[in-house]
Amino acid sequence: MSKTRKSRSRKVKNNFTYSKYKFEFLIFFLIFFGLFLLLEDFELKKFIRESFIYIISTFKHLIFYFYRSTLNFFLKIEFSDIIGLILLFIAFFLILIRWRNELINKNPSFEFCLVCKGKSQRIRRKLYIKIFGFFFRLKIRKYQCKDCNLRSYKLTSL
Ligand SMILES: [Zn+2]
Repeated sequence: MSKTRKSRSRKVKNNFTYSKYKFEFLIFFLIFFGLFLLLEDFELKKFIRESFIYIISTFKHLIFYFYRSTLNFFLKIEFSDIIGLILLFIAFFLILIRWRNELINKNPSFEFCLVCKGKSQRIRRKLYIKIFGFFFRLKIRKYQCKDCNLRSYKLTSL
């Protein structure tokens, strides 16, 4: 109790000294940077200009490099490559659909608990489950058994 009061009073004291000498601090910084800029004027300008030119040219090189490599990539793609990519994509898509249907079959919509036949009630789902359901066009509901607390998901197609 007394400790917090002490630290608070110290804080107030610090604030007081800062506000008391605020003007002096400001004057000191103005003089210091004013003199610094006057004495180092030429060097500073040169430094800023050179850094600016360096950053701009690096940026230009990066953009040009990116543009050239993407262009090369698309020029090198052949017709057979495109067909190959499409076939791979179809295969991947079919695997996903089959996996999704298996998920639905494994988690059927029952009102009661599969273990003890007790009554289940709906509980809140996690965000990533909602996102998953959105992308896979699934209606996912989470249930918890009132008797044995078993948690399960019920899946239906959207
Ligand atoms: Zn149960």
